[in-house]
Amino acid sequence: MKKQRLVILGGGESGVGTALLGKANGYDVFVSDKGKIKENYKQVLLHNEIEWEDETHTESKILNADIVMKSPGIPDKVALVKAIRDKGIQVVSEIEFASKFTNATVVGITGSNGKTTTATLTHHILKQELNVGLAGNIGDSFAKQVLENDYENYVLEISSFQLDDIIGFKPKIAVLLNITPDHLDRYNYEFENYIQSKFRIALNQTKEDYLIYDADDEVITNHLKNNPVQSQLLPFSLTKTIENGAYLDKENIKLTINNNQIIMPTGNITLEGKHNIKNAMAASTVAHLLKIRKQTIRESLENFQGVEHRLEQVLKINKVQYINDSKATNVNATYYALESMDAPTVWIVGGVDKGNNYEELFPFINEKVKAIICLGVDNEKLMNTFGNMVDVIIETQFMSEAVKIAYKIAEAGDNVLLSPACASFDLFENYEDRGRQFKNAVRNL
Ligand code: ADP
Repeated sequence: MKKQRLVILGGGESGVGTALLGKANGYDVFVSDKGKIKENYKQVLLHNEIEWEDETHTESKILNADIVMKSPGIPDKVALVKAIRDKGIQVVSEIEFASKFTNATVVGITGSNGKTTTATLTHHILKQELNVGLAGNIGDSFAKQVLENDYENYVLEISSFQLDDIIGFKPKIAVLLNITPDHLDRYNYEFENYIQSKFRIALNQTKEDYLIYDADDEVITNHLKNNPVQSQLLPFSLTKTIENGAYLDKENIKLTINNNQIIMPTGNITLEGKHNIKNAMAASTVAHLLKIRKQTIRESLENFQGVEHRLEQVLKINKVQYINDSKATNVNATYYALESMDAPTVWIVGGVDKGNNYEELFPFINEKVKAIICLGVDNEKLMNTFGNMVDVIIETQFMSEAVKIAYKIAEAGDNVLLSPACASFDLFENYEDRGRQFKNAVRNL
């Protein structure tokens, strides 16, 4: 029988993982990347005798595919993708493809913010008692892990782009953390399209499956009201009492599933900020569903060290705490960072604006921010927005300078917070580079 032809667009971690998994399962595989494929990935492809090309897309080699796996970075409006769809070729994402080759229990975590933190925390709890892999945008691709060491359980961090190209993908447990406007350029600037994309996490779920979600998020609750899902619902909330699900009762998280309750004191949770209480609620609901012991859940929340670049405590110098929240690439993430500040704060903000509306931050500026340092190529909008709200507002295009200015302004007891609310690629390679430069500059003080 003729082999099925699998064409992979994008030779990054998920593309190369899918290529290996496809090859091992008898597909005729071709990898095509418009950019440059990294040398180490090329070596893997060569070694496994998988045909590839980079810096071009040869249409004749692509349009004869039976199935195309498209990297989440490639938008649908690209002419090649249109041509593929016009020919009726099936387009899938990596999670769709890889999930066909495992019988593992899958936990799928999505949302506009908090995916990495919650997926990492969930994995941290589950791994104490279960054989569990962590994949998605984190570490080795899902496809590669399915091929190499198929775990009995997976925690997957899933973006809306991955969800756009699922067909039958069905997590046993889905987590929907929140929905705020993001990536709208990929959704025809229609928030509703983005909301629908996020809800695809529950698209194929049945009444045997679970959807854990934030009951305080009106975008989510309104959508659910108008578009009911099959899944069993397990909400979490900071503001309401929840009978089946998790809520905050003074200083404790109370989590009940089918009358089985676990109580977790929030004071012992290492992660700072209200948003992280929500992340902890979501992660412990998954763990409770999967029958992790209550004591294990409590202890894991107490010893989880957080994830780099997310409200990461860097150093204390002259009683000033330096905090790296470089991953805050949108206003909502920065909202929670500022909310969690417990001292006067020198705030370093800026980068590539994604059509930001800063209004929701205003109360925190008055209450907590003593100075603003704008760090970007174009700081005009920030200067105009915040110029009259603080005594000190300074702009720069250099991280080292931003940190030195902050050092001069901050006094004992203050915080210096890098939480940019913007993308990083005006001055930096990516948010990791920005966070590392911040930490280096702090260490050099
Ligand atoms: P993602 O993987 O969805 O981008 P991360 O865990 O990497 O999320 O966190 C991104 C940013 O959002 C960080 O600045 C973090 O402090 C903030 N954040 C984390 N959890 C939440 C949440 N539940 N709601 C809002 N912001 C959050």
